[in-house]
Amino acid sequence: MNCLRRCWAEIDLSAIKYNIEQYRTCLKGGTELLCVVKANCYGHSDKIVVPYLERLGIKWFAVSNLIEAEHLRALGVDGEIIILGYTPEENADDLIRYNIIQACTEYTYAQKLNESASAGRVRLHIAIDTGMTRIGLHGDAKTDADDIQKIMALGNVSVEGMFTHYAVADCADEDSIAYTKAQTEKILAVDEELKGRGVSLKCVHFLNSAGGVYHTNEKSALARLGIILYGLYPDPSNPLPFEPKPVMQLKAVVSQVKYIEAGTDVSYGRTFTADKRIKLATVTAGYADGFPRALSNKGEVIIKGTRCKIVGRICMDQFMCDVSALDDVQAGDVATLFGREITADDIAGLTGTIGYEIVCGIAERVPRICK
Ligand SMILES: *Cc1c(COP(=O)(O)O)cnc(C)c1O
Repeated sequence: MNCLRRCWAEIDLSAIKYNIEQYRTCLKGGTELLCVVKANCYGHSDKIVVPYLERLGIKWFAVSNLIEAEHLRALGVDGEIIILGYTPEENADDLIRYNIIQACTEYTYAQKLNESASAGRVRLHIAIDTGMTRIGLHGDAKTDADDIQKIMALGNVSVEGMFTHYAVADCADEDSIAYTKAQTEKILAVDEELKGRGVSLKCVHFLNSAGGVYHTNEKSALARLGIILYGLYPDPSNPLPFEPKPVMQLKAVVSQVKYIEAGTDVSYGRTFTADKRIKLATVTAGYADGFPRALSNKGEVIIKGTRCKIVGRICMDQFMCDVSALDDVQAGDVATLFGREITADDIAGLTGTIGYEIVCGIAERVPRICK
């Protein structure tokens, strides 16, 4: 069987190329692109996306953990790979074996990696916490530089860079803009302090998707491009200088079409009752595919170019929609659950979350198909 025509996600590689080209025009100086491919490329399938990124000439990748990093190596990636999240110290030699750069949160963590490593040096980028309050050194420039020098003195690690992560780079209000500026100044102050001590780190980086657009800065060696790569907005209420093209389209088929009379209840909990005779289609996707149950009686899907309201509760594997406006709908027709006209950001808006969570939440059982 090549692919079950039930519920699938189409991945548009030309949209990735377009998003990268547009995003590059926002960067200044020598800022290089790093593609953030954690969480299976935000649900888009690293097997499909990463080899394509390498063909486009991308040299830097970031993942969340060692399993993802090893997976990229198994796919044949020979570019640089940074683990942005946590790796237990007992895996220090795996980091060395696969030539992975590890984010380092603090001196004591570097010490643990240093003690566990026996196969060479663990490559590190030191995280600097400038305001996200998640990971990293969080002193002033002097104490952070002290810590970095202490880490550099360890024999089994090698400090190649440092980075920070913005908390509100996507927000357009003045307070957020000032906050992001202050975050930038903090990491640059650590860099200045180190330079004053004769230490020059190869790779200092602080831009995420939003940072590269709204706070671009040539002093960042890398822009860590995530959400915009996949064609979604860091914050849909804040316009971008270009319209990113959504890469994923979630589709499913109609399995049955029937008329129901006024007074007929639809789906679990009988939360929808037809107030007139309507034409109803059953669609073969549900919350177990990652299509949010919170869209029950709220969302719409597109069938033959027409928006059709979801009626009743979304079930685990199926849901129903009102197709009264369609003359010639039948079993086997394709429904687009999100993609271009209704985007993952739109779905997120309806369900109280962010587009990131919608695409990351598409289940493993949904085949990803390259289009
Ligand atoms: C996930 C992540 C990114 C990418 O963020 P986007 O908003 O998707 O661009 C960049 N840097 C770090 C440290 C991250 O964890």
